[in-house]
Amino acid sequence: MKKPWLVIKSLAILIGFITITGCSRDDDNTPGVTVDVPVVVYSARAEHLIRPLFERFTEETGVPVQFQTGNANAIVERLRAEGRQTPADVLITVDAGNLWYAADQGLLQPLNSQFINDTIPAHLRDPNDLWTGLSIRARTFVYHKDRIDPAELTDYASLADPKWQGRLCLRSSSSVYTKSLLASLIAHHGEQTTEQIVQGWVNNLAARPHARDANVMDAILSGQCDVGLVNTYYFGRLEAENLDTPLALAWANQNTTGTHVNVSGAGITQHAKNPDGARQLIEWLASEEAQQIFGALNREYPAKPNTEIDQQVQAWGSFIQDQLNLDILGQQQQTATRLADRIGYD
Ligand code: FE
Repeated sequence: MKKPWLVIKSLAILIGFITITGCSRDDDNTPGVTVDVPVVVYSARAEHLIRPLFERFTEETGVPVQFQTGNANAIVERLRAEGRQTPADVLITVDAGNLWYAADQGLLQPLNSQFINDTIPAHLRDPNDLWTGLSIRARTFVYHKDRIDPAELTDYASLADPKWQGRLCLRSSSSVYTKSLLASLIAHHGEQTTEQIVQGWVNNLAARPHARDANVMDAILSGQCDVGLVNTYYFGRLEAENLDTPLALAWANQNTTGTHVNVSGAGITQHAKNPDGARQLIEWLASEEAQQIFGALNREYPAKPNTEIDQQVQAWGSFIQDQLNLDILGQQQQTATRLADRIGYD
């Protein structure tokens, strides 16, 4: 027969456990317990692309997410201005160039996550562990099917060929997307050869560089030019609106370096008040379930290999991606900017 004092002790342990659990969900001040402390996110990804993910994360973990969206430059400047006072735990932004810049400005701290290291390929992560990619976008050829045989579209460098004179449209060089592409060319070919390539592009332009990828596609549709370079998801949006669009994508550099890819990604802020919650959120965003949603919401490619790809995106076919570490895009950004200025690429 059980001794009465043992029964009382067991009950006390049980009650004690229940009490602590209850506190942890209702009382943010419980020492060492962060279950209900919100994770605060600054995001350059638009609200409709991230809210569904945060809601799912909160459903699954009980951890609330508070977030603010803004343009990529504005949120980084805000983080810097706020310094230690910042409420932000996580920075989510687009383009490795922006992630690199935030890291370079000392605004991020190491992720220290074995899960991220094991899940996301190394070329999509910062070598110093300050950020990780979470979705992949390729920047490649978009062309008019009636006017171009895709076999003619091979390398980025081939767009410098005089045969494309007056047939090319490009986005402005002030876009970080353009800078990152130029940076990858510099990393592969060196500055001098890249300058010749880009000079060739500028010579072939049908119009002044456009402010947005969508404008590049509009210009091709209107007959101003026949080919351009865009991030794949912009083509995806156009195609979703018009399934019979006469435009199509073609994969660049399949026999050489692979198609230039970039990421949207995240890091833990240097002055995060809730770094554990921040890590938990970023790890969750790299999980199989979140990766599927993350990619599909904006018609991007999951950063985690072998994740199921959105059907519309799958239909564009598979391609070999450039394995260049995206950190290099940031490192070469200023060189790319100077190069564009030198040759008058607006
Ligand atoms: Fe974009």
